[in-house]
Amino acid sequence: MLYKELCEVYEELEKNPSRLKKTEILANFLKKLKHEKHLEIIYLLQGKTFPDYSEKEFGISEQLCIKALEKSSGISAKDIVLKWKKYGDLGLVAENVIWGKKQNTLFSKRLTTEKILENLKKLPELVGKGTVDKKLALISELLTSASGIEAKYIIRTLLNDLRIGVASGTIRDAIVEAVLEKNNENLEAVQQSYDKANDFALVFEKAIKGIKELHKTELVPGHPLKVMLALKAESIADGFERVGKPACFEYKYDGFRMLINKDEKGNIKIFTRRLDEVTKQFPDVVKYIKENIKAKSFIIDSESVGYDPKTKRYKQFQDISQRIRRKYDIDKLIKELPVEINAFDILYLNGKSLIEEPFEKRSKLLRGIIDNKKYHLQAAEQLITSDEKEAEKFYKQALKDNQEGVMIKNLNSKYQPGARVGHMLKLKPVENEFDLVITGAEYGTGKRAGILSSYTLSCRNEKTGELLEIGKASTGLKEKEEMGLSYTEITKKIKPLITSEHGREVKVKPKIVVTIIFQNIQRSPTYESGFALRFPRVTALRPDRTVHDIATLKEIEDEYKRMELKIHY
Ligand code: AMP
Repeated sequence: MLYKELCEVYEELEKNPSRLKKTEILANFLKKLKHEKHLEIIYLLQGKTFPDYSEKEFGISEQLCIKALEKSSGISAKDIVLKWKKYGDLGLVAENVIWGKKQNTLFSKRLTTEKILENLKKLPELVGKGTVDKKLALISELLTSASGIEAKYIIRTLLNDLRIGVASGTIRDAIVEAVLEKNNENLEAVQQSYDKANDFALVFEKAIKGIKELHKTELVPGHPLKVMLALKAESIADGFERVGKPACFEYKYDGFRMLINKDEKGNIKIFTRRLDEVTKQFPDVVKYIKENIKAKSFIIDSESVGYDPKTKRYKQFQDISQRIRRKYDIDKLIKELPVEINAFDILYLNGKSLIEEPFEKRSKLLRGIIDNKKYHLQAAEQLITSDEKEAEKFYKQALKDNQEGVMIKNLNSKYQPGARVGHMLKLKPVENEFDLVITGAEYGTGKRAGILSSYTLSCRNEKTGELLEIGKASTGLKEKEEMGLSYTEITKKIKPLITSEHGREVKVKPKIVVTIIFQNIQRSPTYESGFALRFPRVTALRPDRTVHDIATLKEIEDEYKRMELKIHY
């Protein structure tokens, strides 16, 4: 295929912000691509030359692009930088300088997508001496035979900044639109195939052949995979109700997810739930895998949890988070922050995918190949029961053992990569809760006129004792007193404490402590604390508590960091 044709698609996609329109443009392109020998061209739509599971990177800096442009256009690097400052996009600069040059010279060579793929695919492989020159030569070769538009997208691709607004969901929809009938079943089949393969060329190839072929998509050990996620349960009873009886209870370890892969050749790779490979950071875990798991090939889902090397007490996730990123002094870190692997699922074993098998069977297979060794690697603590009391006891024990809570799993369910599912639930004591003090309030309007219905909440700076605002809550309370904690009840308590009024707003002596449940914490310039709670709800009055008992700035900061990390790992 001519690269020019692809660039025309890029241009169209860039011009059309609507997702529907983008899907249509992509689908039309895929209908053409279907007849090509190299379906890999589909990677170029994401500005890549490798499937999503690959971590290979071009490793090209803006400086190198400038050099390549200088070499292929004859315009000085200085002038290119000046243009870059003006346009703010090296892609546009490339279009400008290459187009200018092409006005004066005839170019006979026509760039094909195959040539683009060939040169770009060599880039991540280059290492060692002379790398920069070799990279420069590969890029300049392309730019020399490129038109202005082509140069623009070559540069943008190299800088991982295609600016065409195409996410993987749009490609998925376009595949369905291009080669299958548009319905939910087909959409799901394409999505599931993609979840297993993380490779759009492969998914497209299968989709062309039909839905049966999509269903045959296999897992490949060594390729990162999106893990299955859990929903929340409110209680043990709620858990039973939703996953059925008997149910499987497991400790919910407070660490981070590790997907452990061993391929047929015996290569071990470890991925986080963000699909980052962390094998190098965890040679200790690689050793445990070799020592304690007896099978030729597998993909095992697990949680690694830190513990104190002296007391052997389990640690919270944030205490070991540095192990994920640290790439030096690893031996020292292993001693200071050892981790234990708790395996809880198996997706692939000795050449066969297991994700369609019921959880109970997978769990048995997993337990059959693991030699449990505490503080190294073991199968997750587990209880299969229909008895609420027994389950409750297990839950309490998990908390006593310093873990976060329990997971409640349906025994017959399959493993759904990338999905948040209702057959695996998490139960933790109380999530995201702080006690805070009311330092201000605001009168409502309409039917809440005369009632203080929004409350300014503050935490305490543990060093200075100062109270710092962290958000406003106006939900969680009842309209009528007989229904529970109500706006009127709090209003009555606040009124005698008002120190000043401005319009509808009042300032209040910090006496009323409330329990707040929230979804998330964000950094925020709006409040003095520098943080804001997202979706705070008042759930209880805490008359037994004073400002000395409320959450401190440090606690909020710690929780913020923990949540941030949890989002990523
Ligand atoms: P959360 O991070 O609160 O959404 O809870 C789900 C997470 O709990 C999973 O992504 C795992 O990382 C972790 N986890 C800990 N123990 C288990 C277990 N036994 N089974 C499944 N997930 C677990």
